[in-house]
This record gives sequence, C-alpha cells and structure tokens, in this order.
Amino acid sequence: MSSELILEETLTKRSQQKKRTSPLNYKERLFVLTKSSLAYYDRKAEKKFRRGLIELSLIRCVEIVRSNGELIPCHNKYPFQVVHDTNILYIFAPNHDSRTIWVQRLKEEIKDNPSVLAKFHPQFWQEGSWLCCRQMEKQAPGCEKYNPYGDITRKPLPPVPGESKDRMQQRPQSSLPPCPDGEQGGDEGEQEVVTEKKEEVVVALYDFPGAEPHDLRLVKGLEYVILEKCDINWYKARNKYGEEGYIPSNYITEKKLGNLMQFVWYSKHVNRNKAEELLRKEDKEGAFIVRDSSNPETYTISVYAKSLHTGDGGAAIKHYRIKKTQESPPQFYLAEKHLFSSIPELIDYHKHNAAGLVARLRYPVGKSAPSTAGFSYEKWEINPRELTFMKELGSGQFGVVRLGKWRAQHKVAIKAIREGAMFEEDFIEEAKVMMKLSHPKLVQLYGLCSQQRPIYIVTEFMELGCLLNFLRQRCGGFNIGSLLSICLDVSEGMEHLEANGFIHRDLAARNCLVSDTMVVKVSDFGMTRYVLDNMYTSSSSAKFCVKWSPPEVFHFCTFSSMSDVWSYGVVMWEVFTEGQMPFEQQLNHEVVTLVTRGHRLHRPKMAPPFIYDIMQKCWHKKPEERPSFSQICVMIADALEGDLTD
Ligand code: ADP
Repeated sequence: MSSELILEETLTKRSQQKKRTSPLNYKERLFVLTKSSLAYYDRKAEKKFRRGLIELSLIRCVEIVRSNGELIPCHNKYPFQVVHDTNILYIFAPNHDSRTIWVQRLKEEIKDNPSVLAKFHPQFWQEGSWLCCRQMEKQAPGCEKYNPYGDITRKPLPPVPGESKDRMQQRPQSSLPPCPDGEQGGDEGEQEVVTEKKEEVVVALYDFPGAEPHDLRLVKGLEYVILEKCDINWYKARNKYGEEGYIPSNYITEKKLGNLMQFVWYSKHVNRNKAEELLRKEDKEGAFIVRDSSNPETYTISVYAKSLHTGDGGAAIKHYRIKKTQESPPQFYLAEKHLFSSIPELIDYHKHNAAGLVARLRYPVGKSAPSTAGFSYEKWEINPRELTFMKELGSGQFGVVRLGKWRAQHKVAIKAIREGAMFEEDFIEEAKVMMKLSHPKLVQLYGLCSQQRPIYIVTEFMELGCLLNFLRQRCGGFNIGSLLSICLDVSEGMEHLEANGFIHRDLAARNCLVSDTMVVKVSDFGMTRYVLDNMYTSSSSAKFCVKWSPPEVFHFCTFSSMSDVWSYGVVMWEVFTEGQMPFEQQLNHEVVTLVTRGHRLHRPKMAPPFIYDIMQKCWHKKPEERPSFSQICVMIADALEGDLTD
C-alpha cells in the first residue's frame, strides 16, 4: 500500500540555498509520489539513483510558488514548494496542469498531517530573504494563511513568466496583490516547502582529475556537498558551481572544526618509523609531518633538518609532542611561552618561526593520493588502447607483469594472462567484487581488458616490487621497528579482507608488494581459485604452498580467515628472518608430518619473545583459537609502541 504509485514525472528541482552566497542550480529529476513518500531520482546515468526522499508524514505544506516576475532560470516555469521540517524544496513543473496535479495530489496526501503550517511564504526564499515579506530569517513564520484543504483547481492560478499569452492576459503580473504582512494575501495561490536531509560538506584531500564525463573533478582544499553515497568507494557530489558527478570517497574528509584530516600536513596512520622514512626520502630542510603519537589523542610533529644545522654532516629528525594545557578549552603548545587555541594555529606559527624547533615547518610531507577503487564509478573494463607498455616487472603463475601507463600518465602494473593459466570467465565475474576491495594496505585492482586475448589485469603499480625480494635485498638493514611496521601493514590489509568476508588463500611475503614510500600492501588475494594448474592447487602436489598452510588446509582444504591467520604468522616469520624460506631443509610431506605433530617454525633471531609469541598464536592448531586480524593489528601496534616512543 505505502509504495503505491500516485504520480511520476520529470520535474526540475532547485538546489537548497544554505548560504546567502551559494549559487542556485536547477536539476532535472524524476519525481515519484507514492502513498508514503515523495522521492526524486537522477536518471542521467543509466541507472536510477535516488537523490532525496521526503516522507509524506513529515510534510508541513505544499503549495504553488507565486512568482512575481522574477526570472526562472530553468526550462520548467511552474514552481511549487514542499515544506518539510525547516526545509523548503522548490520544484518546477513543465506546465500549468502538471503543477496543479502535483500540488493537488500532494495536498490530499498531507492534509491530515499533525504539523501542517498555519501560515506559509507564498514566494521564494532567495539570496537571504523572503521575496514575499522581505523577512531575512529563513525560519521566519509565514506571511500568508495556508489552506491545506484548498482545492487549488477552483482557484485561479497566478501567472508565471513564460506562460501562454492568453493566460498572461487573463491575469497580468502587475495585477498581483502585494504580499500581505501576516494576513491572507487575496486569492493568489499559496505554496510551500519541502524538507531534505542536512547537507554534508566535505573538503578534498587530493586532486582528482575525473576520468569519465560522469565524474566530478576534485581540487585539493575545495569544498563539496555530498549528494549520494553510491557505494563505499564512490559518492556523488556537487561543487560550488553546481556541477555534479562521482568522486572517490577516500579523497575527501568531513569539513568539521577539529578534523585535522583537512590539512595537508596531517597523516593519521604514520608511526615514528614511517615518518622518519618519509622525511629522509623527501630530504628537504624543514620537511615535516604531524601524526598521531603513541599516546591516544596526542599528536607529534616530526621535523627534518639537514646537515647545515646538525653540524655532523648528517641530517637530524626530531619529534615534538604537541602538549595541551589542563584548562577547558585547552591550549596547545610546544614551548610553554607560545600557546595556541588550536593545532592548525600552532602549525601556522611554526611555519614562520622555528621558535626552538630544529627547523621551521616548511614542507608538509607524506600525503600522496591513494588509489581509487577503479578509475571511475562502476568502470571495470579498461580500453586496451589507453594502455602503453613499459618495462617487464616480473612473471608469475598467470603470466608476465609489465609496468605501463593508463591514458599516458597513470602508472599501472599490467598482467597479461597466459593462455590456459586461468579460469578466465569466473575471474572476470569476481573481478567486479575485488575492485570494490579498496584499502591503503591492499594492492588496488583498477580493472580489466576482458574483451581480448590475452586478457589484461590492471593493478596499482608498486615501485619496490615483491616483499620477499625487498627483505632479501636489504637483509641486515632492518631494525625491529621497521620489521614490525611491515607486519602492521600486512595485518591491516588482511583485517580489511577479513572484515569483508574475503579469504586470501595464498598469503605469503611473495604475494605482498612494496610501494615507493615503503608501504607494504597485500596482493593476489583470492587468485588461487582461478589457477588452472592442478599441481598448484592440489594440496598433495609439490607446487602447493604447504609451508604457509595450517593443518585444516593441507588435510581437508578448509580455507577461512583463520587459515589466512596461520599464513600471516608465517609471513611474520619471513619478515623477521629477512626473507628466509620457511622449513628450508624439509620437503612438503615432511612439513605436513612435522606440523601435524605440533612442530612449529623456530624463533627468528631478530624476533624478541613477545613477537614470536604473536606468531605462535597464529599457529594454534585449532583455527578458532587463533587471533583475528583485528586482534593481530592491536598486538602489532602495541608491540610497535613499546619499541618506539615519540
Ligand atoms: P602471478 O600472480 O602471475 O603469480 P605475481 O603477481 O606474483 O604473478 O607477479 C610476478 C612478479 O611481478 C612479482 O613478483 C613482482 O615482482 C611483479 N609484480 C607483480 N605485480 C606488481 C605490481 N603491481 N607492481 C610491481 N610489480 C609487480
């Protein structure tokens, strides 16, 4: 009953004018009136996206808008209004009859609502005042009595610009009575307002060029209004010019006082070790990062100063914890004589004054744009003509991987699938799901070229290649902190898979990749399901990765997030041995016997007992006794904290 359709028509909607200065825009929307709601949809894309919904029970007034000669800058010239809570929705019908029907049907549906207005504003709210009564408060009480029962077809409707000449002659605009102050304004139609949800304003953290026409370009630092959260990775948004389109949800942050994410200098998930790596890589005097310190709700500034200041020919990195006074609201400071009411003010000050710091804060470092879940909303097919091929990166089970560029500028890794190596149809289906798995610690799948053979899999390019080689090549160059930081990255990627019910099935250091900023990301998740080679997938074969598998997998092929946890323990072991082969001296069948009897990998020399303890927890013979990835993340983060203080 409640979804019973009453009316459906494409009408024009005017944007809500939240600020006096914000420009208005007019958009065509499909309006659908049912017994329970008035909803409107965007139909420009192939699909129908709901842009707004107003429950009829919350509507307080529906009436035509008397237009007193002002220009209506859209094709539809017959405005009416729907008032809901404290909001007004202005809708423009294409003709007089259409408007009459909409207003009449809506009035019928809402007339018994408890919150129907006694008075309303018969004209527009525009640029900070009511055109009817000139009141400048949007919530000012209406200036004309509202008749919710009014059968408007019995009343002559007011003329509007663009109306037919005949009608205009019947009721010339100049004959419209002025809007009375508080009393009913003659026989002119009334009107009212509708409600919409409060607008969510966000700030762009990075530039996003917008790959397709339906995308909206983002400019770092500018504000946007979120119109619809289409899925977790893509939102529909509007810029200040009224342009609308899709944007990646990980490129924005809420505009809110106290949200440090809005600032280029703040990097939430950077620990001391990572901060030092990033600053060294930047190698600039005054490079700095503001990050969460190991103490909750406190922040640390990490600053880089070159030899000039250290005097010993090297560079210095200093970490300063931002302190707070006890009073409420607190003041922030590094040195007690310089107090600031907010962290951004403190940073601004130290941009210009070293005031005791090893260098003044010159270059914010560390925020590079993350990958997007595909190049555009709902785009998984990539045109192979938009790819250019560069050097070979390596080759694996499925074929050769090459560095390439998409649309001549975006670096990508392109895997050309060797004929007969993969269940291609199944993979192509699953790829749409995998593309939605988007996380800073997962190698992003951008899309496929599935219309050709060989098919190409296009993913995020990881400059420093696979983790196993990275560990081996830099053997001897790691400290416990940097090894734990690698483990933390992997556990965070896996936590995201676990949270999405996605099982990796082949987690190992060879299936993790390293970015240019030394972030480690998990790759090749779920891919073993599409390997055609039996030798690789059969647990009794020589190619099967027994050394990373728990007993329930090598005996019964029972995969789960808990079997991934076992493999994660082995990855920790690979990390802390800087890339050794687990059970190097044993053959697969010997490992099966050993592990089944309760034997486990030895403690790596670089792993203190409390870290080996985490590995052993992952290797519990009962899957349900192993920690989850979210628990592992906490354990590793705690271990890191113990190792590194600010
Ligand atoms: P397969 O899945 O066919 O076994 P891999 O994913 O293991 O292939 O890739 C083979 C090698 O190619 C890796 O070891 C790595 O050196 C390189 N490689 C793969 N993907 C990337 C990437 N996204 N960025 C950089 N190098 C990569």
